[in-house]
Amino acid sequence: MKKITIAIDGHSSCGKSTMAKDLAREIGYIYIDSGAMYRCCTLFCMQRGLVNPDGTIQTAELERLMPEIHVSFRFNAETGRPDAYLNGVCVEREIRTMEVSSHVSPVAAIPFVRAAMTAQQQAMGREGGIVMDGRDIGTAVFPHAELKIFVTASDEIRAQRRYDELVAKGEKPDFNAVLANLRERDHIDSTRAVAPLRQAEDALVLDNSHMTIPEQKQWLIDRYKERIED
Ligand code: C5P
Repeated sequence: MKKITIAIDGHSSCGKSTMAKDLAREIGYIYIDSGAMYRCCTLFCMQRGLVNPDGTIQTAELERLMPEIHVSFRFNAETGRPDAYLNGVCVEREIRTMEVSSHVSPVAAIPFVRAAMTAQQQAMGREGGIVMDGRDIGTAVFPHAELKIFVTASDEIRAQRRYDELVAKGEKPDFNAVLANLRERDHIDSTRAVAPLRQAEDALVLDNSHMTIPEQKQWLIDRYKERIED
């Protein structure tokens, strides 16, 4: 059976990666979390002192160091999902902190960062058989993807999900800070000049505000089946 390309885009913390990962496992496709790649670039900036006290990024220095950023994924059998590696070191935990979340959107808005990550993502998906989630997958990375989904949910519900996730990891987040962070990321992601977050014209929209994870999973599997039967 022909393996297709599946692009899942949407707002921050709306459960895209859970849906994408579950679908990929169910149908035997590769799953790539493109947000983790931008988070790795951000962690690299923090480690190298490229984030200024006002939150701006030392772009000239970052551009010089870009060839030193290598992001890869390895499957973690315990969690059932791929862990992100930055230059060979597992950084799955470090890239999910609030500190990385608060710097990632300005880093992801830098055109040469996007060019480098987009090229890597396209190389990963060259053979099809891939589910990738992010902000610009159906519009810029794989504009010809056979199945495109755009996921959203209310701000408060998304913030609550993110808050619960951070608590489960042992962090002590402030709910209002989590809410403000995701609104700010959505704003920066939607208004940047290169590959802004937007719904592709041919994407199917899913508002999962009032859906359980199993319901979302089933919805997505049904859409996949419809598409391959076309
Ligand atoms: O998906 P996640 O929330 O982990 O993504 C972190 C950030 O990476 C987003 O807020 C966005 O700024 C950036 N991103 C992006 N393009 C993608 C995926 C993520 O700009 N395809």
